Amino acid sequence: MTDATRELDLLVIGAGPAGIATAVEARQAGIEKILLVEKGPTHSFSIEKLYTPGKRVDKVYQGQDVACEGSVCIVDGTRESVLETLDRFVHEFNLPIAFETEVTGIRQQEDGFFLVEDNHGQRYLARTVVIAIGVYGRPNKPDFPVPTTLKGHVHFDLTQEIPPGESVLVVGGGNTALEYVAFLYANHPTTLAYRGAHFGRANDINRRILEELQDRQHVTVWTESDLGGVRDTGASPRVEVTFKDGRIASFDHVLFAIGGSTPQGFLQQAGVELDGKSPLVDHRFHTNVPGLFLAGDLVAGGKGSIVKAFNTGHTVVWEGLCADHLECRIPGLQEP
Ligand SMILES: Cc1cc2nc3c(=O)[nH]c(=O)nc-3n(C[C@H](O)[C@H](O)[C@H](O)COP(=O)(O)OP(=O)(O)OC[C@H]3O[C@@H](n4cnc5c(N)ncnc54)[C@H](O)[C@@H]3O)c2cc1C
Repeated sequence: MTDATRELDLLVIGAGPAGIATAVEARQAGIEKILLVEKGPTHSFSIEKLYTPGKRVDKVYQGQDVACEGSVCIVDGTRESVLETLDRFVHEFNLPIAFETEVTGIRQQEDGFFLVEDNHGQRYLARTVVIAIGVYGRPNKPDFPVPTTLKGHVHFDLTQEIPPGESVLVVGGGNTALEYVAFLYANHPTTLAYRGAHFGRANDINRRILEELQDRQHVTVWTESDLGGVRDTGASPRVEVTFKDGRIASFDHVLFAIGGSTPQGFLQQAGVELDGKSPLVDHRFHTNVPGLFLAGDLVAGGKGSIVKAFNTGHTVVWEGLCADHLECRIPGLQEP
């Protein structure tokens, strides 16, 4: 143990909706020694990074009409209003967050405490740990090689601005792909390529918006179009794409929105058992490691939402941490 080791009751990894809700509920339960560690420069970094500016945010997402069970909730709004709401929770509940801090290892010691290490070499000792890192940290990459010379022309999110007027091929068929198209079409010639025949994975609103854009010929949509490879043309437009049926086309940019995967390696190094790709947890989101819980998209079975993420935080604290692991204040009872 180094001098820098900090002893905590609860360490929450990831300050997105699930991590924030977990920490708020923990505060409500009177758990004092809490720390959130967040790899991004701000909280809710996935939302900051992946939602396009002005994006509509639906409380009922992908048809999931879920009521808020705990102390935090959102209403329908935009990327900016939801980020503001999350910011309010962080300040109102005085949540301590270590930013630009990526947890690299978690190990349970013989005395039951977790020894957690970050990318700066800082170590933390925690009685309990909640992993709330979401599934977007690692976007899926295509299964063919992408030449490194195409850096700046092949994208996996919209963090890098695409110059107006330059053509973009968006690849994917879920909500993210459709929302990228709705964001890009005004300033870019935009084409959407999806390997499926229908956009069954997207919600009704996004499907309707896409149909309208297609009817008005604002975007081009290619279904049953499975990408087989990309090549650097060395000229403008830079990216030549080849589809598995032999068609070839060129674009200035290709933006992949083909989902994200469970960070299985991260969970496995922490000792969490997986069933295929899914982590094994009980009804309180407790893993097989005593005192180690998961929250948010990690336990949403591929269909996450902000409200569902909030609710997992509530369950983890009140049915998990307070039931078996930490001493909590009974809600509504006055402090002596
Ligand atoms: C384009 C898009 C549109 C969406 N629209 C909606 C919508 O309209 N309504 C809705 O309800 N839901 C929507 N969702 C889904 C919603 O954003 C997620 O369900 C929700 O953000 C999940 O919260 P989370 O806290 O589990 O994960 P995340 O929001 O992904 O947060 C995880 C946090 O952990 C951090 N992190 C990751 N790895 C580490 C590490 N090793 N160490 C430290 N920190 C780490 C990340 O930087 C991030 O801040 C949308 C998702 C996308 C991609």
